[in-house]
Amino acid sequence: PAASLHSYLLKAADEFPDKTAIHFMGKNMTFQEVKDSAVYFAAYLQKLGVKKGDRVAVFLPNTPQAVIGFFGILLAGGIVVPTNPLYTERELEYQMKDSGAVAIITLDILYPRVSKVIQKTDLKHIIVTAVKDALPFPKNLVYPFIQKKQYGIVVKVTHEGNTHLLSEILKMPAATLEEHPINVEEDLALLQYTGGTTGFPKGVMLTHKNLVANVIMCNNWMYKCRRGQERVLGILPFFHVYGMTTVMILSIMEGHTMILLPKFDPETTLKTIQKQKPTLFPGAPTIYIGLLNHPDLKKYDLSSIDSCISGSAPLPVEVQQKFEEITGGKLVEGYGLTETSPVTHSNFLWDRPRIKGSVGVPWPDTDAAILSLENGERLPPEEVGEIAVKGPQVMKGYWNRPEDTAMTFRDGWLLTGDLGYMDEDGYFYVVDRKKDMIIAGGFNIYPREIEEVLYEHPAIQEVVTAGVPDPYRGETVKAYVVVKEGATVTEKDLDEFARQHLASFKVPRIYEFRDELPKTAVGKILRRVLVDEEKKRMK
Ligand code: ATP
Repeated sequence: PAASLHSYLLKAADEFPDKTAIHFMGKNMTFQEVKDSAVYFAAYLQKLGVKKGDRVAVFLPNTPQAVIGFFGILLAGGIVVPTNPLYTERELEYQMKDSGAVAIITLDILYPRVSKVIQKTDLKHIIVTAVKDALPFPKNLVYPFIQKKQYGIVVKVTHEGNTHLLSEILKMPAATLEEHPINVEEDLALLQYTGGTTGFPKGVMLTHKNLVANVIMCNNWMYKCRRGQERVLGILPFFHVYGMTTVMILSIMEGHTMILLPKFDPETTLKTIQKQKPTLFPGAPTIYIGLLNHPDLKKYDLSSIDSCISGSAPLPVEVQQKFEEITGGKLVEGYGLTETSPVTHSNFLWDRPRIKGSVGVPWPDTDAAILSLENGERLPPEEVGEIAVKGPQVMKGYWNRPEDTAMTFRDGWLLTGDLGYMDEDGYFYVVDRKKDMIIAGGFNIYPREIEEVLYEHPAIQEVVTAGVPDPYRGETVKAYVVVKEGATVTEKDLDEFARQHLASFKVPRIYEFRDELPKTAVGKILRRVLVDEEKKRMK
């Protein structure tokens, strides 16, 4: 691609000025309105002194303002730093310091959190948008991402000093936006922090080209969207690259309507699908599982759904099949990581048959290989090693972490940290993450294999397995289980079931039943948190 990411918003607004770009809780915003707001916001940022290459944080849930903020920052020449609105002060402070953000856009109810950290960071300006400006819907939907005790608090923020109100900015007379040339290969559009599933989040440097290329690939090879004609369900958070690319950037670039939901809740999602009739539904396994387990699922009409892409964690085959039956659409599994903007593989391409359980083949223009863990050499089919990728969507590196960057690239390959293999036909299979592999009594055990088996048990809603410290075997397999509502199952039942399908060294030795499992923002189960709890308990 030769054009900057933000130029696609300008193009879409020229092509579809009156078309709805964003549907949000009963209200619509056209492409022209999104563009105008983004341009106003950009000009204002420039007036505040934001220069090319400055980092500006977006600390918002999925709202129209998140889209305006994102494109406004790019139009001003800045780099977007998406920030999870669930972050506590400590996490927010870390990300602001690490990125060196000079300004932040947030909601009034999150303002107290920002104002507490501003002194300790390089933040010079806070742009605030009011809940009432954009969230005309019931409190229990607005507030789930905020502490319970903050319910109903009215935060009064005024437009003065280093605090600026978006509503005021958008009322100002048109300002001139200074243009700045973009080198799409070199200039960063995004400083995207990794999900933090395995450790501290790192800032991933993604260029304009990285993101535009990934959306073009996504469109050409997977969705085959009809330009300007799709309705995209926006549940995945935009502060994670997965939702940002497959929902937000894709919709703006292709002229589709985004239907935004600020938080995943099965009932609201089912109702929204029935009423708003989305055609594309990017999600994650936990989202599809949540919908399938809803007691009234069958009452809803989900037939508008044409394509879904599931990424971020392994998709159990059973879930895929059931979801396809219910919607009549396709549920495609994709694979990727923040470092690759994010998609590199999908198990559906127009001319290739799908193979269940595989994440598919690398997208055209993307190269993938399996490298030996011992010597980094390319491994032949069927052998397990580290998945490595090359392509236009691969990041420039980690922000301010040259050592991490050097360790992640080898001979031009990006090392994904995932273990996998390729079959004779070039299809890839993710075995597990390198860091999650359990070594028990000298055996290598992949948690995912055990989980796939346990998911087949009718009483299990969710399960995760992890290696917990064990004095004799080094590590031992423990399963954390959430049982389906109304079902009962004992440890003995599960043990018998596991033994029928797994070699005995892989069978979990300990079971723990829980009401829910800790998860990241995109619904990935936080195995690390469970293992840490275990380690603390053993001390
Ligand atoms: P961190 O890198 O900070 O630990 P994170 O892993 O959550 O956090 P992401 O970049 O969001 O960061 O996640 C990428 C990872 O998600 C991949 O490396 C892979 O382990 C996993 N993943 C993505 N898609 C799939 C899939 N279809 N099947 C299995 N695993 C997947």
